[in-house]
Amino acid sequence: MIFDHIMVRFGELSTKGKNKKDFIRVLARNIKNALDEYKDLSFDVRYDHIYVKLNNTDPKPVIETLQDVSGIHSLSLVIKTDTDIENLKKVALEMVEAEEGKTFKVKTKRADKSYPIISDEINRIIATEILKNTSLKVDVHNPDILVSIEIRDEGAYIFTHTYPACGGYPLGVGGKVMHMLSGGIDSPVAAYLLMKRGIKIECIHFASPPYTNIGVIEKLKDLLSVLNKYQDSIRLTIIPFTKLQEKIYEVSDESYVITLMRRMMYRLASALMKKRGCLAISSGESVGQVASQTLDSLSVINDVTNAVVLRPLVTSDKEEIIKLSRKIGAYEISIRPYEDCCTIFSPKNPKTKPSLNKCLEYENKFDYQTMINEALANAEVIYVKKDEDKLL
Ligand code: ATP
Ligand code: MG
Repeated sequence: MIFDHIMVRFGELSTKGKNKKDFIRVLARNIKNALDEYKDLSFDVRYDHIYVKLNNTDPKPVIETLQDVSGIHSLSLVIKTDTDIENLKKVALEMVEAEEGKTFKVKTKRADKSYPIISDEINRIIATEILKNTSLKVDVHNPDILVSIEIRDEGAYIFTHTYPACGGYPLGVGGKVMHMLSGGIDSPVAAYLLMKRGIKIECIHFASPPYTNIGVIEKLKDLLSVLNKYQDSIRLTIIPFTKLQEKIYEVSDESYVITLMRRMMYRLASALMKKRGCLAISSGESVGQVASQTLDSLSVINDVTNAVVLRPLVTSDKEEIIKLSRKIGAYEISIRPYEDCCTIFSPKNPKTKPSLNKCLEYENKFDYQTMINEALANAEVIYVKKDEDKLL
């Protein structure tokens, strides 16, 4: 059976009019980008579907690539034919004959309302043809083979297999966020969930050499390579955080170290977010997971910025997060041992209910703004791209 097209169905289309046009335009661009290496493919972008014409390309890797493009709801391998009923009978019969199973059902969608035969009648004609030429039986509830026919202005599409894809929105329609990427399990998963909603990411990482080793950068690059599946090129800014951390340790009580560190992280992320034209900050925080993520802590930490902060994992438990991490292929990288700036400086009794006034008191003891500016000025930028690591 020579399938000639892949039918691409869109994700959540509550969007209409101009928004739908933008959705399709961005999705078409992302699809073409993702399939760049397959030179023989061509594309037919329409209002209800996008069709990828195979021109003899092996469909398997193409489908696998498309399953990871956000904004695609599902895919079908189809044969496009003339809408002539004799033609439909012939192609549908050939298609079921190539399938395994004992029962079948025909389901027709007549999007072209000018087509002279109504859907039920088409179902009946095709089913009769199949019954006459094969030993298959009809089962309308749970058929082994579902023959789907879509009649559209430009032709008919016939298929028996539909593959799920990742859904969500096309990457880029939702703006860009400054994502706080640690080397742990949570933040890459949070990034994936944002990208699935059509949001592009840029990452910021706080590094504390010599307390954290240089290996962490390799780890981050590997994590971003996994995320390159969803976004071709990801910008990562590495902020030297050691001096700020040491200063915080010097001026504050140990139990406040984490809260103060995280306030500094949010100040830095806020500044970089504005500079880079991002619309929000995002992180892998989840309520109650650790001391710094109680609602009391989050509110004191969040007090340093008026930026929108997106926390996609806010109510997820660790089990769910790990499951997603495995699914996207990040888990094995995330669990590689490394020293995070937070684990190194981890106090024995971190505050779960820090006081905002206390934080302000400690912060008044040093000129953190100058140190923030200095850290930003000394930041290093890396772009992690699909199939290559580029140091700029
Ligand atoms: P993760 O598994 O993502 O490391 P975690 O459960 O270890 O998260 P924390 O270390 O408290 O939790 O960090 C919470 C969030 O803060 C992280 O998900 C990440 O978004 C951000 N974060 C923590 N440390 C760093 C860092 N060194 N650089 C950038 N972001 C960080
Ligand atoms: Mg962490």
